Amino acid sequence: MIMRNKTEIITKLQKAMEFYDELGFEYLPVKRVDIEKFSLKKTGAAQSKENALEDLRRQIGECQRCKLSQHRKNVVFGEGCPDAGLMFIGEGPGKDEDIQSRPFVGEAGKLLTRLIIKLKMKREEVYIANIVKCRPPYNRNPEEDEIMACRPFIEKQIEIVNPGVIVCLGRISTQALLRINIPISKARGSFFYYNDIPVMPTFHPAYLLRNRGDKQLTWEDMRKVIQKLKQD
Ligand code: SF4
Repeated sequence: MIMRNKTEIITKLQKAMEFYDELGFEYLPVKRVDIEKFSLKKTGAAQSKENALEDLRRQIGECQRCKLSQHRKNVVFGEGCPDAGLMFIGEGPGKDEDIQSRPFVGEAGKLLTRLIIKLKMKREEVYIANIVKCRPPYNRNPEEDEIMACRPFIEKQIEIVNPGVIVCLGRISTQALLRINIPISKARGSFFYYNDIPVMPTFHPAYLLRNRGDKQLTWEDMRKVIQKLKQD
């Protein structure tokens, strides 16, 4: 993954520059064809992940595996960079998401986008998905059988994207992914692990819209996430 290898690449590049500097070179003797090969390799990795995500979307199709299929307008698969270092996971689509077939596009989504920008990233650079892909009626919480039916899809998305850090937005997402029963107020701020990937639980943006005083806590959680990404 690009983000994880960045430090290693920079270190190797520095060593190579020192080596050629000692030999008296004033520039790195790299041929254009080498650069092109390198960028093609990076594009290839991202491309195969994109293909894998498209395959998964096709497999889900017009899914009827749980009762959430009865009232939804659209399956909201997820979106973003297939090779993202940072992945956000919410609980499920709301009204706007159901209509547009995109995750986090309503008011809570706008707040999430502002948070991502505050992290000095673009929304297109991260990957955003939900635990369940269809809107629960009247925005109720997804039920256990619905979470279990949909779980293989988020597991596969994580496996494909293979992010450096996952941020779980809210209680449902945290408890469903990590299979723990800790209130979000206690879980937030500390790293947990899902298949060796660090997971930071934090408040859901919809909660933050109602409890603006807790935005600072979420920002503290996100600062830890950025530190963790820099370590990898
Ligand atoms: S929530 Fe998931 S399992 Fe249920 S119908 Fe939608 S895609 Fe299928």
